[in-house]
Amino acid sequence: MIIAPGATLGVLGSGQLGRMFTIAARRMGYRVHTFSPDQDTPTGQVADLEVTAPYEDLDALRTFAKDVAVVTFEFENVPSDAVHALDGLVPVRPSGAALYTSQQRGREKAFLSERGFPTVPFARATTLAELQDGVARIGTPAVIKSAAFGYDGKGQHKITRANEVERVWTALKGAEVLVEKFVSLQAEISVIAARGLDGSVAEYPPFENRHSNHILDVTTAPAAVPAAMATRAREIARAILEALDYVGVLCVEFFVTTDNELLVNELAPRPHNSGHLTFDAAVTSQFEQQVRAICGLPLGSTELLKPAAMANLLGDLWADGEPNWAAACRFPDVKLHLYGKSQPRPGRKMGHLTATARTVAEAQDIVVAARDALLS
Ligand code: AMP
Repeated sequence: MIIAPGATLGVLGSGQLGRMFTIAARRMGYRVHTFSPDQDTPTGQVADLEVTAPYEDLDALRTFAKDVAVVTFEFENVPSDAVHALDGLVPVRPSGAALYTSQQRGREKAFLSERGFPTVPFARATTLAELQDGVARIGTPAVIKSAAFGYDGKGQHKITRANEVERVWTALKGAEVLVEKFVSLQAEISVIAARGLDGSVAEYPPFENRHSNHILDVTTAPAAVPAAMATRAREIARAILEALDYVGVLCVEFFVTTDNELLVNELAPRPHNSGHLTFDAAVTSQFEQQVRAICGLPLGSTELLKPAAMANLLGDLWADGEPNWAAACRFPDVKLHLYGKSQPRPGRKMGHLTATARTVAEAQDIVVAARDALLS
């Protein structure tokens, strides 16, 4: 049964992903309610209703569920108790099981490798001895990551020698960790894919991502990888959605090694920063695709209309006062997206710019020039 326009959709979380989901949903005639511990949020500013309560307030969650036809979430760190509280009250899409798998790096990597998806060699450890064993097996250089998801590179330590293990174990405060072989990277790409209620799957071509200080800086689309690798990445993404019996949008992040190996790095069970350019450059945006998938509607076309590039706008841009918005808007092919956040802290994602052009290189040059112009 489809959830038709006019119905109310519930979003757990209230950041920019929820905001762009809400904009897409409202354009299609849905109402949106958002639930998070915060007020005057990026999502709440554009939603029909902003509910402010802690995720631990299960009564508030149940009340929230009563007024919505389906619940989705816009970030994966929603406590699983909160998702369980909705069981039987309202459909949750993607499911709590998919969320559970991708909420913790160790579980996620185990899921991927058990099903034969290519990943970097890794080991899970809950004690210092296990970690030392894991490092001995995998060798150095290696990266030790906290198993609980930090994002944007938080909780990651590169080691070049086995005798550094104890220091890192202490720094990570003895919580469960994952150790991975440190591989030499040629590129990082992502495939954003959606699976509908009827099991149909649609994925965008791979996008290419460049990071700065572990935070996504620029995405270009389509990625400059050989056609066979692009096809392989799309096939892997489809197979992951099927293995998770997934409904909704999921992002698969890949490493392309200098040996031309394609490895799955991690999954994001939601629309993803690397897909923001689909808003301006694809027939269907990743946010509209999420609406379609969770409402049981047919998926839209993932065709790219033009080569595109996206540049994130971090709070650092505000260091010397308000950025020069007119200077960026002087580029006629650039679209400005701001998330309505009032506190521009360094490293905080405040918005992004998208450019479309005849070639990927041109789109990238334009978007970076427009971002530089913000400081003029
Ligand atoms: P993650 O939070 O796991 O996505 O890691 C953040 C970034 O660190 C990645 O996008 C890579 O650039 C780098 N990185 C993480 N793990 C590895 C690895 N095993 N080998 C090489 N680079 C890595």
